[in-house]
Amino acid sequence: MKKINTVLGPISPEDLGLTLVHEHLAVSYAGWECDPLSRPYNREKMVRICLRALQPVKDYGLNSIIEATPADMNRDIDIMKEVSEKLQINIICSTGRYTEELGKWAYLKQRSQNKIGDMVQELYEGFMQEITRGIDLSGVKPGVIKVATGLNYISPIEEAVLKATARAGKETGLPLITHTENGTMGPEQAKLLIDEGVNPKRIMIGHMCGNSSLQYQLSVLSQGVNISFDRFGIELFLPDKVRTATLIGLLGLGYTDRIMLSHDFMACTSGRGGRLPEEVARTLTNWSFIHIFRNIIPALKQAGITDEQIRAMMIDNPRRLLGGE
Ligand SMILES: [Zn+2]
Repeated sequence: MKKINTVLGPISPEDLGLTLVHEHLAVSYAGWECDPLSRPYNREKMVRICLRALQPVKDYGLNSIIEATPADMNRDIDIMKEVSEKLQINIICSTGRYTEELGKWAYLKQRSQNKIGDMVQELYEGFMQEITRGIDLSGVKPGVIKVATGLNYISPIEEAVLKATARAGKETGLPLITHTENGTMGPEQAKLLIDEGVNPKRIMIGHMCGNSSLQYQLSVLSQGVNISFDRFGIELFLPDKVRTATLIGLLGLGYTDRIMLSHDFMACTSGRGGRLPEEVARTLTNWSFIHIFRNIIPALKQAGITDEQIRAMMIDNPRRLLGGE
């Protein structure tokens, strides 16, 4: 079995332990840095916020998180390293890109329009640089490749990212984790990556809990890939009860070995701040790193899901995905 890259260096897959597979420490939407009213970027304060958010989860045995922030969402390796050191948890960071709508694309679009470079090739080279040499000057190597598509549509740029990540994933053995928008394009993502030659076991289609249709779930699972129910606590579009019921259905059908859990929580963001409207804030009251442990696992157990099944989703499946078993 191969080693898993964390922000503090490689570890053995057996040392991964209880893992949340899709979370964010510091993350920001592109453009905050152009807002003259953005708060100053205070790394020390952000580390304190992350520590406060993660510390209580250690009591539940949390040992590792996949930090799913791609390069164009203000991925901050220094914050991840400091939090990992101080809290003694493994943090696996990502190379990769976000959706066309919300990522940073002007530079590559301009190069490709002027025929300076081929987008798939340039993306691939960028991912490979980070995987083989490390991110920026940190020397930190990503443990996963992140890819994202938009709502009901895979744009040509997103298709280029899928192809480039597929190539990088095949060559390096790193797993591919994905963002799907509001429960759409999961089957299409899986098919495209598999058609490009990626082993389905090395793929985790993300945000699958955004769609409560069992038919949708099966159209992804039937392709042999892993999926993540990774937005527990985000009840803006879908209540957790529906997520939980869908999950219980899939566990009952025998898919325990292919499902992983997380919150897609964001511990801190940059910009000028501000309050969410009351009706939105109300749908996020449970959103934190601890919600699954405090509320979702007890609900699953009440429905008859066993400790072994929970162990599979939280420990064994992440170990297999990241460790390349
Ligand atoms: Zn995310």
